[in-house]
Amino acid sequence: GWRVQHNNVLGPYKGGIRFHPASNLDEVKALAALMTWKTSLMGLPYGGAKGAVRVNPHELSERELEAVSRAYIRAVKDHIGPDRDIPAPDVGTNAQVMDWMADEYGKLTVKPEPAAFTGKSIEKGGSQGREPATGFGGFVVLREFLKIQDTRYKIRDTPIIAIQGFGNVGSYIAKYLSKDGFRVVAVSDSKGALYEPEGINIEKLAHEKEMRGIIDRGLCYAVSGHGRPCQTFSNEDLLTLPVDILIPAALEGVITGKNAAGIRAKVVLEMANGPVTPEADTILEKRGVAVIPDILANGGGVVGSYFEWIQSLDQKYWSEEVVLGKIEEKMKEAFARVAEAKKEYNVNWREAAYVYAINRVANSMI
Ligand code: NAD
Repeated sequence: GWRVQHNNVLGPYKGGIRFHPASNLDEVKALAALMTWKTSLMGLPYGGAKGAVRVNPHELSERELEAVSRAYIRAVKDHIGPDRDIPAPDVGTNAQVMDWMADEYGKLTVKPEPAAFTGKSIEKGGSQGREPATGFGGFVVLREFLKIQDTRYKIRDTPIIAIQGFGNVGSYIAKYLSKDGFRVVAVSDSKGALYEPEGINIEKLAHEKEMRGIIDRGLCYAVSGHGRPCQTFSNEDLLTLPVDILIPAALEGVITGKNAAGIRAKVVLEMANGPVTPEADTILEKRGVAVIPDILANGGGVVGSYFEWIQSLDQKYWSEEVVLGKIEEKMKEAFARVAEAKKEYNVNWREAAYVYAINRVANSMI
Protein backbone atom coordinates (compact mmCIF):
# COMPACT_ATOMS: atom_id res chain seq x y z
CA GLY A 1 0.00 0.00 0.00
CA TRP A 2 0.97 3.65 -0.46
CA ARG A 3 0.11 7.19 0.59
CA VAL A 4 1.50 9.89 -1.67
CA GLN A 5 1.44 13.55 -0.58
CA HIS A 6 1.95 15.77 -3.60
CA ASN A 7 1.60 19.37 -2.43
CA ASN A 8 0.25 21.13 0.69
CA VAL A 9 0.94 24.78 0.00
CA LEU A 10 -2.79 25.62 0.06
CA GLY A 11 -3.67 23.53 3.14
CA PRO A 12 -3.70 19.97 4.50
CA TYR A 13 -3.28 17.17 1.96
CA LYS A 14 -6.58 15.71 0.73
CA GLY A 15 -7.32 12.61 -1.32
CA GLY A 16 -8.98 9.23 -1.44
CA ILE A 17 -7.72 5.73 -0.67
CA ARG A 18 -8.23 3.15 -3.39
CA PHE A 19 -8.36 -0.65 -2.94
CA HIS A 20 -7.67 -2.20 -6.32
CA PRO A 21 -5.68 -5.22 -7.56
CA ALA A 22 -3.90 -3.15 -10.24
CA SER A 23 -2.91 -0.19 -8.01
CA ASN A 24 0.71 0.88 -8.28
CA LEU A 25 2.92 3.70 -7.04
CA ASP A 26 3.02 5.61 -10.35
CA GLU A 27 -0.78 5.66 -10.53
CA VAL A 28 -1.04 6.90 -6.93
CA LYS A 29 1.50 9.66 -7.67
CA ALA A 30 -0.47 10.79 -10.73
CA LEU A 31 -3.76 10.77 -8.83
CA ALA A 32 -2.19 12.73 -5.94
CA ALA A 33 -1.08 15.46 -8.36
CA LEU A 34 -4.57 15.52 -9.89
CA MET A 35 -5.98 16.17 -6.40
CA THR A 36 -3.65 19.17 -5.96
CA TRP A 37 -5.07 20.75 -9.12
CA LYS A 38 -8.66 19.80 -8.28
CA THR A 39 -8.65 21.26 -4.76
CA SER A 40 -6.90 24.36 -6.09
CA LEU A 41 -9.47 24.85 -8.85
CA MET A 42 -12.35 24.33 -6.43
CA GLY A 43 -10.99 27.11 -4.21
CA LEU A 44 -10.53 24.82 -1.20
CA PRO A 45 -7.91 25.22 1.55
CA TYR A 46 -6.37 21.83 0.69
CA GLY A 47 -3.43 20.27 -1.06
CA GLY A 48 -3.39 16.97 -2.94
CA ALA A 49 -2.69 13.37 -1.88
CA LYS A 50 -3.81 9.87 -2.74
CA GLY A 51 -3.54 6.42 -1.20
CA ALA A 52 -3.96 2.86 -2.38
CA VAL A 53 -3.67 -0.76 -1.35
CA ARG A 54 -3.01 -3.34 -4.04
CA VAL A 55 -5.79 -5.75 -3.13
CA ASN A 56 -9.09 -6.93 -4.60
CA PRO A 57 -11.67 -5.95 -1.95
CA HIS A 58 -14.30 -8.18 -3.58
CA GLU A 59 -12.20 -11.26 -2.80
CA LEU A 60 -11.92 -10.42 0.92
CA SER A 61 -14.29 -11.39 3.71
CA GLU A 62 -15.67 -8.46 5.70
CA ARG A 63 -13.30 -9.31 8.56
CA GLU A 64 -10.31 -9.30 6.19
CA LEU A 65 -11.40 -5.99 4.66
CA GLU A 66 -11.60 -4.46 8.14
CA ALA A 67 -8.14 -5.85 9.00
CA VAL A 68 -6.60 -4.33 5.83
CA SER A 69 -8.29 -0.96 6.51
CA ARG A 70 -7.05 -0.82 10.11
CA ALA A 71 -3.52 -2.01 9.18
CA TYR A 72 -3.26 0.70 6.52
CA ILE A 73 -4.02 3.37 9.15
CA ARG A 74 -1.47 1.93 11.59
CA ALA A 75 1.12 2.25 8.80
CA VAL A 76 0.34 5.88 7.86
CA LYS A 77 -0.86 7.29 11.20
CA ASP A 78 2.07 9.69 11.65
CA HIS A 79 1.41 11.31 8.30
CA ILE A 80 -2.36 11.94 8.49
CA GLY A 81 -4.69 13.95 10.72
CA PRO A 82 -7.40 16.66 10.53
CA ASP A 83 -4.89 19.44 9.84
CA ARG A 84 -2.29 17.31 8.09
CA ASP A 85 -3.74 14.87 5.55
CA ILE A 86 -7.43 13.90 5.30
CA PRO A 87 -8.22 10.67 3.43
CA ALA A 88 -11.57 9.84 1.80
CA PRO A 89 -13.07 6.85 -0.04
CA ASP A 90 -12.17 6.10 -3.65
CA VAL A 91 -12.52 3.13 -6.00
CA GLY A 92 -13.06 -0.05 -3.92
CA THR A 93 -13.53 1.74 -0.57
CA ASN A 94 -16.67 3.17 1.02
CA ALA A 95 -18.19 4.71 4.16
CA GLN A 96 -17.73 1.47 6.11
CA VAL A 97 -13.99 1.43 5.31
CA MET A 98 -13.73 5.09 6.38
CA ASP A 99 -15.55 4.28 9.66
CA TRP A 100 -13.04 1.49 10.43
CA MET A 101 -10.13 3.77 9.53
CA ALA A 102 -11.46 6.66 11.66
CA ASP A 103 -12.01 4.27 14.57
CA GLU A 104 -8.47 2.89 14.28
CA TYR A 105 -7.02 6.38 14.06
CA GLY A 106 -9.02 7.46 17.15
CA LYS A 107 -7.61 4.49 19.08
CA LEU A 108 -4.04 5.39 18.10
CA THR A 109 -4.43 9.07 18.99
CA VAL A 110 -6.48 8.18 22.12
CA LYS A 111 -9.29 10.59 21.17
CA PRO A 112 -11.97 10.59 18.50
CA GLU A 113 -10.81 12.48 15.38
CA PRO A 114 -13.77 12.42 12.96
CA ALA A 115 -12.32 15.35 11.00
CA ALA A 116 -9.32 13.20 10.01
CA PHE A 117 -11.50 11.38 7.42
CA THR A 118 -14.33 12.26 5.06
CA GLY A 119 -16.86 10.00 3.39
CA LYS A 120 -17.82 8.50 6.77
CA SER A 121 -21.30 7.10 7.41
CA ILE A 122 -23.87 9.56 8.74
CA GLU A 123 -23.92 7.66 12.08
CA LYS A 124 -20.15 8.18 12.44
CA GLY A 125 -20.18 11.90 11.65
CA GLY A 126 -20.52 11.85 7.86
CA SER A 127 -22.32 14.64 6.02
CA GLN A 128 -25.76 14.75 4.50
CA GLY A 129 -25.36 15.38 0.78
CA ARG A 130 -21.88 13.81 0.50
CA GLU A 131 -23.26 10.81 -1.39
CA PRO A 132 -24.93 12.79 -4.22
CA ALA A 133 -22.25 15.54 -4.11
CA THR A 134 -20.21 14.49 -7.16
CA GLY A 135 -23.20 13.87 -9.43
CA PHE A 136 -24.90 17.03 -8.22
CA GLY A 137 -21.74 19.10 -8.79
CA GLY A 138 -21.47 17.80 -12.38
CA PHE A 139 -25.10 18.70 -12.98
CA VAL A 140 -24.47 22.27 -11.77
CA VAL A 141 -21.38 22.61 -14.00
CA LEU A 142 -23.28 21.35 -17.05
CA ARG A 143 -26.11 23.81 -16.45
CA GLU A 144 -23.62 26.67 -16.15
CA PHE A 145 -21.93 25.55 -19.37
CA LEU A 146 -25.25 25.45 -21.23
CA LYS A 147 -26.07 29.00 -20.09
CA ILE A 148 -23.03 30.37 -21.92
CA GLN A 149 -22.58 27.72 -24.61
CA ASP A 150 -21.15 28.67 -27.93
CA THR A 151 -23.84 28.60 -30.65
CA ARG A 152 -21.64 26.29 -32.78
CA TYR A 153 -22.48 23.39 -30.46
CA LYS A 154 -26.17 23.60 -31.52
CA ILE A 155 -27.51 21.78 -28.49
CA ARG A 156 -31.24 21.06 -28.51
CA ASP A 157 -33.51 22.94 -26.10
CA THR A 158 -34.12 19.65 -24.31
CA PRO A 159 -30.61 18.22 -24.44
CA ILE A 160 -30.27 14.49 -25.14
CA ILE A 161 -27.83 12.67 -22.90
CA ALA A 162 -26.02 9.31 -22.68
CA ILE A 163 -24.29 8.25 -19.45
CA GLN A 164 -21.67 5.51 -19.16
CA GLY A 165 -21.70 4.05 -15.63
CA PHE A 166 -24.67 3.93 -13.29
CA GLY A 167 -22.84 3.79 -9.96
CA ASN A 168 -22.67 6.56 -7.38
CA VAL A 169 -21.70 9.31 -9.82
CA GLY A 170 -23.64 8.16 -12.90
CA SER A 171 -26.92 7.45 -11.13
CA TYR A 172 -27.00 10.75 -9.22
CA ILE A 173 -26.18 12.94 -12.21
CA ALA A 174 -28.81 11.02 -14.19
CA LYS A 175 -31.38 11.72 -11.47
CA TYR A 176 -30.65 15.45 -11.28
CA LEU A 177 -30.64 15.83 -15.06
CA SER A 178 -33.88 13.98 -15.66
CA LYS A 179 -35.59 15.84 -12.80
CA ASP A 180 -34.53 19.09 -14.45
CA GLY A 181 -36.07 18.12 -17.80
CA PHE A 182 -33.03 16.78 -19.68
CA ARG A 183 -33.68 13.64 -21.72
CA VAL A 184 -31.39 10.79 -20.59
CA VAL A 185 -31.76 8.23 -23.39
CA ALA A 186 -28.98 5.76 -22.52
CA VAL A 187 -27.21 4.47 -19.41
CA SER A 188 -24.83 1.58 -18.86
CA ASP A 189 -22.94 -0.42 -16.27
CA SER A 190 -20.27 -3.11 -16.49
CA LYS A 191 -22.85 -5.62 -17.76
CA GLY A 192 -24.16 -3.59 -20.72
CA ALA A 193 -26.17 -0.60 -21.86
CA LEU A 194 -29.85 0.37 -22.07
CA TYR A 195 -31.39 2.70 -24.63
CA GLU A 196 -34.79 4.40 -24.81
CA PRO A 197 -35.06 7.20 -27.39
CA GLU A 198 -38.03 8.81 -25.57
CA GLY A 199 -35.94 9.16 -22.39
CA ILE A 200 -35.46 6.70 -19.54
CA ASN A 201 -37.47 6.90 -16.33
CA ILE A 202 -34.34 7.36 -14.18
CA GLU A 203 -36.12 7.54 -10.80
CA LYS A 204 -37.64 4.14 -11.41
CA LEU A 205 -34.46 2.58 -12.81
CA ALA A 206 -32.37 3.87 -9.87
CA HIS A 207 -34.90 2.52 -7.40
CA GLU A 208 -34.96 -0.90 -9.09
CA LYS A 209 -31.15 -0.93 -9.19
CA GLU A 210 -31.01 -0.23 -5.48
CA MET A 211 -33.32 -3.19 -4.83
CA ARG A 212 -31.67 -5.62 -7.27
CA GLY A 213 -28.08 -4.37 -7.56
CA ILE A 214 -28.02 -4.35 -11.38
CA ILE A 215 -29.55 -2.48 -14.28
CA ASP A 216 -31.34 -4.63 -16.78
CA ARG A 217 -33.77 -4.17 -19.54
CA GLY A 218 -36.77 -5.51 -17.64
CA LEU A 219 -36.34 -2.72 -15.08
CA CYS A 220 -36.00 0.12 -17.55
CA TYR A 221 -38.94 2.10 -18.95
CA ALA A 222 -39.53 5.32 -20.83
CA VAL A 223 -40.42 8.55 -19.02
CA SER A 224 -43.62 8.58 -21.09
CA GLY A 225 -44.54 5.29 -19.39
CA HIS A 226 -45.42 3.45 -22.62
CA GLY A 227 -44.64 0.18 -20.84
CA ARG A 228 -42.16 -1.25 -23.37
CA PRO A 229 -38.81 -2.18 -21.74
CA CYS A 230 -35.70 -0.36 -22.98
CA GLN A 231 -33.49 -1.78 -25.74
CA THR A 232 -30.15 -3.34 -24.84
CA PHE A 233 -26.92 -2.74 -26.71
CA SER A 234 -23.18 -2.68 -26.12
CA ASN A 235 -21.26 -0.31 -23.91
CA GLU A 236 -19.02 0.74 -26.80
CA ASP A 237 -22.10 1.73 -28.86
CA LEU A 238 -23.30 4.01 -26.07
CA LEU A 239 -20.28 6.23 -26.65
CA THR A 240 -21.17 6.87 -30.29
CA LEU A 241 -24.92 7.53 -29.94
CA PRO A 242 -26.26 10.70 -31.65
CA VAL A 243 -26.70 12.64 -28.38
CA ASP A 244 -25.95 16.24 -27.41
CA ILE A 245 -24.02 15.40 -24.27
CA LEU A 246 -21.97 12.31 -23.44
CA ILE A 247 -21.15 11.67 -19.79
CA PRO A 248 -18.47 9.05 -19.09
CA ALA A 249 -19.00 8.27 -15.38
CA ALA A 250 -17.36 4.87 -14.99
CA LEU A 251 -13.73 4.27 -15.87
CA GLU A 252 -10.60 6.02 -17.04
CA GLY A 253 -9.34 5.82 -20.64
CA VAL A 254 -12.65 4.88 -22.33
CA ILE A 255 -12.61 7.54 -25.06
CA THR A 256 -9.46 6.81 -27.03
CA GLY A 257 -7.63 7.54 -30.27
CA LYS A 258 -9.59 4.59 -31.74
CA ASN A 259 -13.16 5.64 -30.97
CA ALA A 260 -12.94 9.47 -30.65
CA ALA A 261 -13.68 10.02 -34.34
CA GLY A 262 -17.01 8.22 -33.86
CA ILE A 263 -18.22 10.35 -30.93
CA ARG A 264 -21.30 12.25 -32.09
CA ALA A 265 -21.95 14.26 -28.90
CA LYS A 266 -21.14 17.97 -28.98
CA VAL A 267 -20.12 18.03 -25.34
CA VAL A 268 -18.28 15.45 -23.21
CA LEU A 269 -18.66 15.96 -19.45
CA GLU A 270 -15.87 14.02 -17.73
CA MET A 271 -17.47 12.71 -14.54
CA ALA A 272 -15.02 9.79 -14.22
CA ASN A 273 -11.36 10.61 -13.61
CA GLY A 274 -9.41 10.65 -16.88
CA PRO A 275 -12.00 9.06 -19.22
CA VAL A 276 -10.59 10.83 -22.32
CA THR A 277 -7.04 9.87 -23.35
CA PRO A 278 -4.66 12.58 -24.62
CA GLU A 279 -4.94 11.22 -28.21
CA ALA A 280 -8.73 11.38 -28.00
CA ASP A 281 -8.55 14.89 -26.55
CA THR A 282 -6.68 16.10 -29.64
CA ILE A 283 -9.16 14.45 -32.00
CA LEU A 284 -12.20 15.82 -30.14
CA GLU A 285 -10.71 19.31 -30.08
CA LYS A 286 -10.10 19.23 -33.85
CA ARG A 287 -13.71 18.10 -34.35
CA GLY A 288 -15.03 20.98 -32.22
CA VAL A 289 -16.33 18.82 -29.36
CA ALA A 290 -16.20 20.61 -25.99
CA VAL A 291 -14.62 18.47 -23.25
CA ILE A 292 -15.42 19.68 -19.74
CA PRO A 293 -12.50 18.29 -17.73
CA ASP A 294 -12.67 15.97 -14.72
CA ILE A 295 -11.00 18.37 -12.30
CA LEU A 296 -13.95 20.72 -12.81
CA ALA A 297 -16.83 18.34 -13.64
CA ASN A 298 -16.34 15.90 -10.75
CA GLY A 299 -14.98 18.42 -8.24
CA GLY A 300 -18.29 18.28 -6.32
CA GLY A 301 -17.00 15.18 -4.50
CA VAL A 302 -14.10 16.92 -2.82
CA VAL A 303 -16.23 20.01 -2.21
CA GLY A 304 -18.74 17.76 -0.38
CA SER A 305 -15.81 16.32 1.58
CA TYR A 306 -14.69 19.82 2.52
CA PHE A 307 -18.11 20.59 4.01
CA GLU A 308 -18.05 17.27 5.88
CA TRP A 309 -14.63 18.21 7.32
CA ILE A 310 -15.95 21.61 8.51
CA GLN A 311 -18.97 19.96 10.18
CA SER A 312 -16.73 17.34 11.84
CA LEU A 313 -14.38 20.04 13.16
CA ASP A 314 -17.31 22.11 14.50
CA GLN A 315 -19.39 19.13 15.63
CA LYS A 316 -22.38 20.87 14.06
CA TYR A 317 -24.41 19.19 11.34
CA TRP A 318 -26.31 20.65 8.38
CA SER A 319 -29.26 19.34 6.32
CA GLU A 320 -28.80 17.95 2.79
CA GLU A 321 -30.45 21.06 1.39
CA VAL A 322 -27.92 23.33 3.10
CA VAL A 323 -24.96 21.18 2.02
CA LEU A 324 -26.09 20.99 -1.62
CA GLY A 325 -26.71 24.75 -1.62
CA LYS A 326 -23.12 25.35 -0.50
CA ILE A 327 -21.80 22.87 -3.10
CA GLU A 328 -23.77 24.61 -5.84
CA GLU A 329 -22.20 27.94 -4.95
CA LYS A 330 -18.65 26.49 -5.02
CA MET A 331 -19.25 24.74 -8.36
CA LYS A 332 -20.59 27.92 -9.95
CA GLU A 333 -17.57 29.86 -8.72
CA ALA A 334 -15.18 27.22 -10.10
CA PHE A 335 -16.97 27.18 -13.45
CA ALA A 336 -16.79 30.97 -13.68
CA ARG A 337 -13.02 30.88 -12.99
CA VAL A 338 -12.49 28.36 -15.79
CA ALA A 339 -14.71 30.28 -18.21
CA GLU A 340 -12.72 33.43 -17.46
CA ALA A 341 -9.32 31.73 -17.92
CA LYS A 342 -10.60 30.20 -21.17
CA LYS A 343 -11.43 33.64 -22.52
CA GLU A 344 -8.27 35.30 -21.25
CA TYR A 345 -5.83 32.69 -22.60
CA ASN A 346 -7.93 31.54 -25.59
CA VAL A 347 -7.51 27.86 -24.71
CA ASN A 348 -9.82 24.85 -24.38
CA TRP A 349 -11.75 23.96 -21.21
CA ARG A 350 -9.15 21.51 -19.90
CA GLU A 351 -6.25 23.91 -20.46
CA ALA A 352 -8.20 26.74 -18.83
CA ALA A 353 -8.90 24.62 -15.73
CA TYR A 354 -5.21 23.75 -15.43
CA VAL A 355 -4.08 27.33 -16.02
CA TYR A 356 -6.15 28.52 -13.08
CA ALA A 357 -5.37 25.57 -10.79
CA ILE A 358 -1.61 25.55 -11.38
CA ASN A 359 -1.34 29.34 -11.14
CA ARG A 360 -3.05 29.36 -7.74
CA VAL A 361 -0.60 26.77 -6.38
CA ALA A 362 2.43 28.36 -8.06
CA ASN A 363 1.57 31.86 -6.80
CA SER A 364 1.27 30.51 -3.25
CA MET A 365 4.71 28.93 -3.49
CA ILE A 366 6.54 32.09 -4.43
P1 NAD B 1 -19.02 3.17 -8.69
O1 NAD B 1 -18.21 1.96 -8.43
O2 NAD B 1 -20.14 3.53 -7.77
O3 NAD B 1 -19.69 3.09 -10.15
C1 NAD B 1 -18.98 2.75 -11.30
C2 NAD B 1 -20.00 2.34 -12.36
O4 NAD B 1 -19.30 2.05 -13.56
C3 NAD B 1 -20.79 1.08 -12.02
O5 NAD B 1 -22.12 1.27 -12.43
C4 NAD B 1 -20.13 0.02 -12.89
O6 NAD B 1 -20.99 -1.06 -13.21
C5 NAD B 1 -19.80 0.85 -14.10
N1 NAD B 1 -18.81 0.22 -14.97
C6 NAD B 1 -17.72 -0.50 -14.68
N2 NAD B 1 -17.11 -0.93 -15.79
C7 NAD B 1 -17.84 -0.44 -16.83
C8 NAD B 1 -17.74 -0.52 -18.23
N3 NAD B 1 -16.75 -1.21 -18.81
N4 NAD B 1 -18.67 0.12 -18.97
C9 NAD B 1 -19.67 0.81 -18.40
N5 NAD B 1 -19.82 0.91 -17.10
C10 NAD B 1 -18.92 0.29 -16.32
O7 NAD B 1 -17.98 4.37 -8.83
P2 NAD B 1 -18.26 5.93 -8.73
O8 NAD B 1 -17.99 6.36 -7.34
O9 NAD B 1 -19.57 6.23 -9.37
O10 NAD B 1 -17.06 6.51 -9.61
C11 NAD B 1 -17.11 6.54 -11.03
C12 NAD B 1 -15.98 7.40 -11.55
O11 NAD B 1 -16.09 8.71 -11.00
C13 NAD B 1 -14.55 6.91 -11.19
O12 NAD B 1 -13.69 7.27 -12.25
C14 NAD B 1 -14.21 7.76 -9.97
O13 NAD B 1 -12.80 7.90 -9.81
C15 NAD B 1 -14.87 9.06 -10.35
N6 NAD B 1 -15.15 9.94 -9.21
C16 NAD B 1 -15.97 9.55 -8.22
C17 NAD B 1 -16.24 10.41 -7.16
C18 NAD B 1 -17.19 10.05 -6.06
O14 NAD B 1 -17.46 10.90 -5.22
N7 NAD B 1 -17.75 8.85 -6.04
C19 NAD B 1 -15.62 11.68 -7.12
C20 NAD B 1 -14.78 12.05 -8.17
C21 NAD B 1 -14.55 11.16 -9.21
